[in-house]
Amino acid sequence: MTMFSVILKCFNPKNLNPKRFLTFNNRDDISKPKPAMSTLVPPDFENEEGTENNDSTTTLKIVKLLSEADEYLNTHEYTRAIAVFQHATQCGSATAAAKLGIIYHGGINDIIPPDYASAAVYYLFALKLIYMIPCNKWDMSLILDVISGLSELYRFQMNRKRDCDIWNHGTKAMKHIDQTLQDPLATKFLSHKDIQKRRAIRIHIAYCLGLTAEADNDFSTALTTFKSCQKFGECGFNTADTLVKKSHKKVRTLEPQVPKVKPVCVECQYEAKELKDIWRLLVCAKCQSVACCSKACLTNHLSTHREDEDKKTK
Ligand SMILES: [Zn+2]
Ligand SMILES: [Zn+2]
Repeated sequence: MTMFSVILKCFNPKNLNPKRFLTFNNRDDISKPKPAMSTLVPPDFENEEGTENNDSTTTLKIVKLLSEADEYLNTHEYTRAIAVFQHATQCGSATAAAKLGIIYHGGINDIIPPDYASAAVYYLFALKLIYMIPCNKWDMSLILDVISGLSELYRFQMNRKRDCDIWNHGTKAMKHIDQTLQDPLATKFLSHKDIQKRRAIRIHIAYCLGLTAEADNDFSTALTTFKSCQKFGECGFNTADTLVKKSHKKVRTLEPQVPKVKPVCVECQYEAKELKDIWRLLVCAKCQSVACCSKACLTNHLSTHREDEDKKTK
């Protein structure tokens, strides 16, 4: 089994049956970023056809396919362009997968209608392919195109419940990318512009993860995630900068919903993990800032308040 068939198994657009996940919504005016022409392919895709010692065979083939597809785009032969991009994707080109994501995301004139499910699947596929390339060779422009497209789908098209499967695939892939972007190897030789792009990518990811936690009613995770998102600060990319501002708002609305008292007994350090156990904790009425697991622990804790008072009166 080749590596490609392994990924296909996870991310086969046909297996995922896009129509099930997303319906055609109103046609948004989606800005179409152009993915950079990165021709890198994961190592496993090189020499796929068993050609002898020719490391660059697949790369050359992809370069050819990508320019062929672009020519078709220029001459408005969209169906042909899509077929060639699909071929290049099958050869392991993340750029081709990203282009397909963008094409399906925005649609083209009246010929190719937007198909958000296919867009999501191709974006995810692009991430999967990028992930297979050593991170010191990652193309920040390409990743930013894919992540910002995906983040737009999360914010405007996808529904946490209805599109649950693809949503979870996406957050998993984004977490992977985010973790790797923190690897010193991934950032060693980045230019200033690329460092800003990396920050924009991480902002988009943090915002999507915040939305996920919020939709799951996990307000405390949502709060910390949006806080981390606003900490990134501005990066010079419009949408990402807007998300940072939106995170400020999210933090403000979430804060009152998250209890400030830690779900740990202040006396015996028992930690309540499940929601039902958290509800059972007794919050000290006196200081309202700590919780206790039982009446016994609460009594002990209250005695410390009494000692404090005694000290004060002395
Ligand atoms: Zn206790
Ligand atoms: Zn107390």
